[in-house]
Amino acid sequence: MHRIVALALAAASLATADLPKFDQVSNGFKEVVSTADGSRPLYRIWKKDNDLLAELPRGWERQQHIIAATQNRGTIFAGLQGPEVLVYWKRNGNRLMVMTPELGTRSNGEQESKDSVRRIFTDTMLFDVPILAMGPSGQPVVDLDSLLLRSAAGGLGLGGLNAGLAEVVTAKTFPQNTVVSFDVPNRGGQIVGLYFSIVDLPRNNGYKPREADNRIGYFMTSYRDLGDYNQKTKWKRYIHRWNLQKRDPSLKMSPPKEPIIYYIEHTVPVRYRRWLRQGVLYWNNAFAEVGIDNAIEVYFQDKQTGAHMDKDPEDVRYSFIRWLNNDVSTAIGPSRANPLTGEIFDADIVLTDGWIRAYWGWYYEDSPDIVAEGMSPDLREWYDANPHWDPRLLVASPARRAELIDARTSVTADAAEPAIAHNPDLYGTCSSAGCTQCMAAQGLASHMAFAGLMGEDLAMFAPEGDDGAQLDGIPEWFVGPLFAELVCHEVGHTLGLRHNFKASSLYTHEQMNSEEF
Ligand SMILES: [Zn+2]
Repeated sequence: MHRIVALALAAASLATADLPKFDQVSNGFKEVVSTADGSRPLYRIWKKDNDLLAELPRGWERQQHIIAATQNRGTIFAGLQGPEVLVYWKRNGNRLMVMTPELGTRSNGEQESKDSVRRIFTDTMLFDVPILAMGPSGQPVVDLDSLLLRSAAGGLGLGGLNAGLAEVVTAKTFPQNTVVSFDVPNRGGQIVGLYFSIVDLPRNNGYKPREADNRIGYFMTSYRDLGDYNQKTKWKRYIHRWNLQKRDPSLKMSPPKEPIIYYIEHTVPVRYRRWLRQGVLYWNNAFAEVGIDNAIEVYFQDKQTGAHMDKDPEDVRYSFIRWLNNDVSTAIGPSRANPLTGEIFDADIVLTDGWIRAYWGWYYEDSPDIVAEGMSPDLREWYDANPHWDPRLLVASPARRAELIDARTSVTADAAEPAIAHNPDLYGTCSSAGCTQCMAAQGLASHMAFAGLMGEDLAMFAPEGDDGAQLDGIPEWFVGPLFAELVCHEVGHTLGLRHNFKASSLYTHEQMNSEEF
């Protein structure tokens, strides 16, 4: 036994001795220092032009990190959260294996079941990289740009890049978090931005996983516990939620220990910012019900004043409401949660410019969507083939009719789900963290179309004393609250809530079919 340990130690030191000296490897590199007080960062990094070296943190053998990637330039949904993976490092001679733990099947039961589960459900190596040297803190040093662009990007499904021509755009390193981003030509030559945020998983922060309850629809992280021999309780499901606690639990109404903070991105048109903020802050009413005052705070990022411009939306420490001018009307509310506990640690909502154009249409044109409500797919198909019978076309003005027929012939199944058409990773999100595809917009559209059918003109719904203010040619009383409601809905998703399926049926079929109804 002792001899084996001694041999292993000898092998390790022998291997280390084979490695070049750090000074040689890092010749011409300059250390990146991102903290004002010089506190020790998660990974120490060094930069020379577009090359990066990183030294693993002390204690890496016992740590688990999340690598989160976001494509933040050169794609129609630039900035939409990309994939993330939980990893740990494992040394093998002069190579490091990047491992991801098996989380789907575990055992919380007796030792025998733990041993047995571990034998079958082993961890997976994602990729491996050479150790270049031992760094000044005595830890392995790796080629960080190559690791992220050649290995991690491929492993996360973001491959097909000309990594040799990558430019380092961002390289910052903080005590809990290291961020690096690149601009790199893709296979077609277009420049795409790839942003990586590597974060140390929070440990012992007082967060308690909460088991899911069927009555409330939350996003969940779940696993199979094969140490539990009851078929009904074998699946363990933790809801996704923020670690929100009262600062003073003895108070009936207390501020939070740590608020949830959303930044409104600088690309949001100035005239809509206050409405977006209002939509986020609606949620403080819900938290006040459970005795937390001002649980959520909102700040505006602003390029002109420089406010909060040092914060990158792709950095997992900051949650943002982002805005894209991509001529799509969609809203997406994804978040990232600790896969071991369900604790949400990052959320970035994406809104798009297409909304403004859509809202204009809702206000000034009758939407045919409402008459499509309740149509079966078969019936829709039949109407598509027999447009002169189609009530959606019959209610539309002649000019609009031609447009609708045109649009219909160019729409494919995928285009109907633009977020998925442009970011197939969302399909993956559906199976792992719960589906983030949100139909709130379509729901709002049919409410508005219904309101439009009720009155000759939506202007009759203008509030008393309205001063006639317009945003982009649409009355502000109409478009402002619509944005607020949309944001409120998406923020709900980033607080862990799915669409609440049970509560969405107000009346039973029996009630609706009764004489009295
Ligand atoms: Zn939704």
